[in-house]
Amino acid sequence: MPEAQISTHSSHSSHSQTINKQITLPLTFICFDFEWQILPDAKGNQPFRAASFVDSNGLKKVFLIQDYEKTFGIKAEYALLLEILNFLAKYEYSFGWYSKGFESYNDQKKRIEGKNSDLVMLDKRLKANGISSIVGFNRFGTPYIKGASHIDAMKLYEKPMVKVSIYKNKYTGMGLDMVSQAIIGKGKYKGFSGKDFDSLPTLEDKRNYVLEDSQLVFDILQHNDYEIIKLMLSITNLTGVSFETVCNSGVSTLWTRILDDIILKELERLASIAQINSPRYLLLKKYYDRKAYQKPVFQEENEVYQLLDDNVIEEEENEDDNSFSSSSSEEKQQQKEKHIKFEGGKVIEPIRGEHRNVIVFDVASLYPKMVINYNISFDTVLCDCCKDNLLARVPKEVVHVKDYWICKRQQGIFTERMLHFTNERLKQKKLGNEIDSQGLKILINAGYGVFGYEYFKYFNQDVAILIAAYGRYTLTKMIELAESQGLKVIYGDTDSLFIIKGNNVEKKEDYLQITDKEIEQFKSKCAQILNIEAKHKRTFDKAIIAKKKHYLGILEDKTKQLVIKGFEGIKSDRVKWVRNAFAQVIEDYKNGFNPIPKLKQAISDLEQWNIKEPKKILLKTTKIGKDPEDYENNCISKRIGVELGLRRGDIASYYLADNEKGYTFDVNECSISQYKKMLSSAVKDIVEILGYDVEHDIFSGTTYLSDLL
Ligand SMILES: [Zn+2]
Repeated sequence: MPEAQISTHSSHSSHSQTINKQITLPLTFICFDFEWQILPDAKGNQPFRAASFVDSNGLKKVFLIQDYEKTFGIKAEYALLLEILNFLAKYEYSFGWYSKGFESYNDQKKRIEGKNSDLVMLDKRLKANGISSIVGFNRFGTPYIKGASHIDAMKLYEKPMVKVSIYKNKYTGMGLDMVSQAIIGKGKYKGFSGKDFDSLPTLEDKRNYVLEDSQLVFDILQHNDYEIIKLMLSITNLTGVSFETVCNSGVSTLWTRILDDIILKELERLASIAQINSPRYLLLKKYYDRKAYQKPVFQEENEVYQLLDDNVIEEEENEDDNSFSSSSSEEKQQQKEKHIKFEGGKVIEPIRGEHRNVIVFDVASLYPKMVINYNISFDTVLCDCCKDNLLARVPKEVVHVKDYWICKRQQGIFTERMLHFTNERLKQKKLGNEIDSQGLKILINAGYGVFGYEYFKYFNQDVAILIAAYGRYTLTKMIELAESQGLKVIYGDTDSLFIIKGNNVEKKEDYLQITDKEIEQFKSKCAQILNIEAKHKRTFDKAIIAKKKHYLGILEDKTKQLVIKGFEGIKSDRVKWVRNAFAQVIEDYKNGFNPIPKLKQAISDLEQWNIKEPKKILLKTTKIGKDPEDYENNCISKRIGVELGLRRGDIASYYLADNEKGYTFDVNECSISQYKKMLSSAVKDIVEILGYDVEHDIFSGTTYLSDLL
């Protein structure tokens, strides 16, 4: 895949070409699922037991081994496999769930990891039965169907552009049951899992179970009028990359193909005017011929995806006090390691406290705009032609780590494509083509991150550095513009600013409101001076800003909706009792009540053991981030993992305790003081800002039940 592919198709290659917006669902596809014997027989074989198919024309089919045993006897599996092959041969496109996974040997850990999928098992069983296999394997060991397009829907729904951008992180794990519950509100047949298949009581149960898996995959794909398939088709049209590749690979592959096509055209054009010795030809040729840096084997392509103008409430990295680390933060860490590190967006140190009448401004597509405004591209940064041109220098106030200049003579290839996609997106939006506009947005937003990704063919660290640097510079300049208008910036992060008028005032009647005229003035200054679109995103009637990335605001309008970010009291893995008490604090604040009485009540209820369903609301659940033996220190996750035999990704449920282990499975042994500590740390910032002393006003004078024991 990373090798340059010379393509002669013309769909999008010319610079002024508009995008084909006619998208119906031109493909018929089939979803399949296979079941095999879970426990290997004496020879290590795991024969096929069943297969099911659901296609996009409404056809459903289940084949059970029992259907063949009477007629074919010991050749029953052979007959079943032939039936499967006949069926698959009718379709160019197929989908499965975890259909492309495979076992692999981890050399460092000296053990087998992962598990085999439908395609790997199909390959094994075909070969075992002396049938020539339709399954091939790429250099990473990933299986595919020869001569047809097969997509592992799990991989597709795992992509950030689908999981984050479309489904707003609605599903937290990648099991079929979890994803289907989140998207279509429906899970697996009778709650059985694959392991139970052999022991299902009746043939009818087996048939229903096997069918259900294919059906679920189909239902997910069909959701909202095939929105994901249509989106992938739209990206196929936009990039000229095959549908299968779009579904199976990451955004860096897409951008590689986009840039390859344009560069090839440009090289041909330069050659036609006898420019093959020009510096530009040589530079582009060098990039075009570049082999993507070799990825380590077994490493699937990692997505590089930036969400800037999306309104997703992100969960913060887990900073749990008892050295838990959720697997998501570990995965993020691993992902970060494949990126070259450089300074990112600017985060302004907030003015801690409660603020009134806060206007939040957002810059529309900050990074793409930086690319376009400053012509940042792999072929313009540090170009040969403008080395001595003082006007091409990047000012030191933008970036000082290195001397930079950007071409003044040539529009960059990446710049041109960003501009084209941005204009095209506006056009498609106006035409009401939501899907195309979404596809363009994905490409645009991804365009920034790929340059800092070292396995990207056009990887160029300087491009990534300059885009981020100009982003920070722009935010700094916006602050100056606001201040020159007598406004005050109380917080800002990457592409947003929180602005008030006047100072932090004491008396309520002194709070000033930013007028519509002032808002318009600020927006027009940003447009004129910085060539960016500052959007008035929201107004907070009141807001509490605790620290960087930790704030809550109550919207001005009647609905009094809440925007909350960062506070640990909202995190989904927190104990329900803490979340409830935290939510009550917020609710009281929203309605202008003193939150202390109810907070004290909650604590006293816990101490008196006057709580409903303690088993439920005090339970702490944590996803185990590592296999127990991989933990370096002896944290709770490790200890529980060892005790319960858990593996990475399993969920541990327990209660906090003061015993030697630090946890218990009996709610009556739980530690009241530890739960109080947890609540205290969750609400501390907010109640302190509201003028209460956490220790004195709330947690003092109470006796710890555990102290008495
Ligand atoms: Zn130049």
